[in-house]
Amino acid sequence: MATFDPAFSPASRPRRTCTEFVEGILAGDRTILGQSITLLESARSDHQELGQQIIEAILPHSGKSFRLGVTGVPGVGKSTFIEAFGKLLLQQAPLSGGRGRLAVLAIDPSSARSGGSILGDKTRMVELSRDERVFIRPSPAADSLGGVARRTRECIMLCEAAGYDTILVETVGVGQSETAVHSMTDFFLLLMLSGAGDELQGIKRGIMEMADAIAITKADGDNVLRARAAAAEYRAAVHLFPRHPSEQRIETLTCSAQSGEGLNELAALLRRYRESAIASGYFLRRRSEQTRYWFQESVMTELKSALLQKPLAAGAVAEMEEAALAGRLSPFRAAQQAVARALSLAPHA
Ligand code: GDP
Repeated sequence: MATFDPAFSPASRPRRTCTEFVEGILAGDRTILGQSITLLESARSDHQELGQQIIEAILPHSGKSFRLGVTGVPGVGKSTFIEAFGKLLLQQAPLSGGRGRLAVLAIDPSSARSGGSILGDKTRMVELSRDERVFIRPSPAADSLGGVARRTRECIMLCEAAGYDTILVETVGVGQSETAVHSMTDFFLLLMLSGAGDELQGIKRGIMEMADAIAITKADGDNVLRARAAAAEYRAAVHLFPRHPSEQRIETLTCSAQSGEGLNELAALLRRYRESAIASGYFLRRRSEQTRYWFQESVMTELKSALLQKPLAAGAVAEMEEAALAGRLSPFRAAQQAVARALSLAPHA
């Protein structure tokens, strides 16, 4: 489901030129937008190359949205929340100007391994998915979390060029993908359950420190008081955290996708946050730190693959691995020698 698009089978030859793709995206054509994403997800190098050309061409048209990351353990209520909150956002003035278009993307680390995904398997966000102002794309599949994250990032840029002014990136809070989603969003919202400790929820303190806001979900019916008590506890806990780089407080609130409690407050919070982050310069600084982070990540990925593409280099690595496994060299020393040998080889040796 993640990569197959009947209008554009990954095995087929691209049917459009780069210019046609770019014009289609800029005109907000959802089919062409979807096909461009499929190109980037394709394992074929000609698809990848065309995908990168499209990214380069749309780059000046990207970046204008408000990017909201939403994370939380399975069952915390992410998709129900996104459905309710997304509908509310569509009723209000767009968060960052524009025409009021919402894209919902996902980063699912399990799609890196299995090709299936925790997030994609359910029928999710039924109402949003029927709204023509909304574009929903499940997590890309790739061979590593880094690959999934890179494609999601590229997908954000394409969606922005296609006129989506609010981008919601959802991730399953299982401890790996939060850093990735934090490093590509303007605001990172952590959803938490009441009545289950942080430990039980597997939410590490480091992830809580990354959050710009913490919302206790399912604050309705019998659960309202418990949710409020949990919010108060987290409010006390975040006071002890190091100062947030935005200089803004980490807000703690309760919400319910069922009753709507807290959703308006959250939307207002996002507006206030965005305005003051722009005014203080933090908004652009965070974006440029993210660009640096992704550049450096990509350098490492490229270096690794460039190195291993040299047949003799792969041989050197394998030989040194043997030496480490046989106990002749420490793993660190073996790695040093493998890299030194690989680097000394001719570029295409
Ligand atoms: P996800 O795995 O984080 O995407 O969680 P889901 O959105 O699938 O929700 C998990 C369960 O919690 C479902 O049974 C929902 O019906 C329920 N749920 C989600 N939001 C709320 C809420 O605001 N109030 C209540 N009472 N239940 C909710």
